Amino acid sequence: MNRRVVRGVSELYTPFDRVEDAAFVVDDGRYAWVGPAAALPADYAGWPTIDLGGSAVIPGLVDSHTHLVWAGSRVDEYVRRSAGVTYQEIAAEGGGILATVEATRAMSDAGLMMLARRRAAAFQRGGVTALEVKSGYGLTTEHELRMLQAARRLGEDGPLRVTTTLLAHLPDPAEDRERFLDRFVSETLPEAARQRLADAVDVFIEDGAFTLAEGRRVLEAALELGLPVKAHAEQFSNSGAAKLVAELGGLSADHLERATPEDLEALAAAGSVATLLPLAALLLRAPLPQAAQLRASGVKVAIASDHNPGSSPLFGLLPALQLAGVATGLTVHETLVAGTANAADALGRPDWGRVQAGAAADYLVVNGAEALLPLYTWGQPSIKEMVIGGQTVWRAEG
Ligand SMILES: [Zn+2]
Repeated sequence: MNRRVVRGVSELYTPFDRVEDAAFVVDDGRYAWVGPAAALPADYAGWPTIDLGGSAVIPGLVDSHTHLVWAGSRVDEYVRRSAGVTYQEIAAEGGGILATVEATRAMSDAGLMMLARRRAAAFQRGGVTALEVKSGYGLTTEHELRMLQAARRLGEDGPLRVTTTLLAHLPDPAEDRERFLDRFVSETLPEAARQRLADAVDVFIEDGAFTLAEGRRVLEAALELGLPVKAHAEQFSNSGAAKLVAELGGLSADHLERATPEDLEALAAAGSVATLLPLAALLLRAPLPQAAQLRASGVKVAIASDHNPGSSPLFGLLPALQLAGVATGLTVHETLVAGTANAADALGRPDWGRVQAGAAADYLVVNGAEALLPLYTWGQPSIKEMVIGGQTVWRAEG
């Protein structure tokens, strides 16, 4: 049934607007009409109709920042950090990201795919209909492309929508720093672009990763190849990375624990999204920008899981939205917008993450009459059905 009218929706968040007693029309995987049931145009009178019987609907959740493809374990590091050893101390010992690089390089393509699929399934059960997946644990061209291929394959297999991002994560310690960068911009990046494996390019600008000048070089090379850009910005120190993203018209600056009000204003002026990663901030004991400051800047805020084996071993987006709400003071409604429409904008996909005419028909039927219920029940996604592109992906029993 590719075209249908959906009625009996007690409450709908588009996510910007709240509509009571709503209806919407799905045609060929997209919304053809959305509004109050009483205003449904007569043209749809003869269409097949589904009655949700008074359940609420929200857009499918969009996770705009994950490092989903990785192998190995960093439980030991997690336990040591809980006892006071810092992230930077572990990185200096060759642990942290480099430990994951070693394990990821050693894992077969099939093994990487299996791990990524298993994690993606957890996100899907928690209401995520689209997610971004970054490379960055390969470092060499061969291994970065292998990670991107796994991410691309995940999206092609469906039903989850996946965008891929080539991430310049760290200079490879096995290679001269200057040579690594030369190779990244002259080989890894063009090859990822040529094979259409990357939808965007990201760089980690931080002490111990790349300098601001190096980050600029990576992002400018990406723009020359026609790829949109973003950055891991202002996480442990204020480097100027957020302003660089704004200057380059990037999709988003992510982290921002050490961002200044001026950084947020620059992002707002450029139309770039400010992406908050609350679990990483909490686990590394860093402050998050506060709601008043975010609102005053006018910046568009997204919230993401930052799923990764080190600083954010989080298998879903709802908990990130809930944590960010508490840690920043954003309202529940604002966190819903941050995990749907704004996150989609951070991926350069303004046709995702909203229930609006023309957008992709990706939505969640809530297990109850109140649309914000899934953001209220911690650890229990109150969702009874997931629909992607107009097709039911799963439905809860009973
Ligand atoms: Zn990240």
